[in-house]
Amino acid sequence: MTKFKLGEKRPLVISGPCSVETREQTLETCVRLAETGVVDMLRGGVWKPRTSPGTFEGVGLKGLAWMAEAKRLTGLPIGVEVASAKHVEGALEFEVDCVWIGARTTVSPFAVQEIAEALKGSGVSVLIKNPMNPDIDLWAGAVKRFAAVGIPIEDIGLIHRGFQYFGQSRYRNAPMWPLAFEMRSRFPEMMMICDPSHMAGSTEYLLELSQAAADLRYDGLIVESHCNPSEALSDAAQQVVPGELERLISSVNWRRDAVDDPEFVQALNRFRDEIDQIDAELFDLLSRRMRVSERIGRVKKDNDVVILQSSRWGEIRDRVLAQSERLGLSPEFLNAILEAVHVESIERQNSVMN
Ligand code: PEP
Ligand code: MN
Repeated sequence: MTKFKLGEKRPLVISGPCSVETREQTLETCVRLAETGVVDMLRGGVWKPRTSPGTFEGVGLKGLAWMAEAKRLTGLPIGVEVASAKHVEGALEFEVDCVWIGARTTVSPFAVQEIAEALKGSGVSVLIKNPMNPDIDLWAGAVKRFAAVGIPIEDIGLIHRGFQYFGQSRYRNAPMWPLAFEMRSRFPEMMMICDPSHMAGSTEYLLELSQAAADLRYDGLIVESHCNPSEALSDAAQQVVPGELERLISSVNWRRDAVDDPEFVQALNRFRDEIDQIDAELFDLLSRRMRVSERIGRVKKDNDVVILQSSRWGEIRDRVLAQSERLGLSPEFLNAILEAVHVESIERQNSVMN
């Protein structure tokens, strides 16, 4: 088999079980996945860093032997998660083509450093998952550690699996797409792969997240698949059988980057001009609003009154939110804007008063 190279195929589709559990489960899942013809690499977790102790922590080295057998049977490259130098040693011994750094490991600079050093010179690709928490510098720091030991940048890729989020989210892990865009602008040459399984936490949302990733120009997908998901020892709710994986991948529309058609270009430019015009007005209005806030600050100062008048703010918010439906803007979006406006407005008043 020729050496696996990241970036040679786009979109890259990686699939396999969350956890390697038994030889039969591994081989059956992987062979059925290979038969779909839509999978470019097999994945399997043999060491499972779990949030809670007492849950399934993986079968270890013997699982690597099963993954290696799946590679021989299918001719597909294999990838496993590593969380320590010892894991890397095992993975290299079994000739894995790719390793990935899990979200619970990316948060730990010591672990990332020792993995990078163990992987140095191996020629094996590494995919770095975003850390559990929405910290771009930590994610970027992990990339830099691999690059600093001399791993070629083209052998390093990123996996966006969403962020742990305290509050209400439709998904198990909130995508927070703009954070991944920021990461991409820091490492524009690096592959960005979406992990809709860990974002979704449920098979129900796999397609909408995969399509969103395709529309945002991601370079591939990593999706968990199990021959018998309801019996899976980890992440049962988010795994699909190989046949469903095939349907999912075939349903995603990887649209073209652009077309030369002059009519399309003209229509696009017209709408872009319109947006630029609206943005200009929008920010002029915000600027005016902030200048009024400063005037309020001056009046409050002259009368020695506190800045924060919470009932007034509550009224403003209620009034705007009541318009949510008419405006066609979600309450979440309106709240986020209001929050930003409020913070800046208090800031302005504060600077005038003190
Ligand atoms: C996994 O890929 O099975 C896994 C544990 O993912 P994450 O590190 O994204 O939670
Ligand atoms: Mn998993």
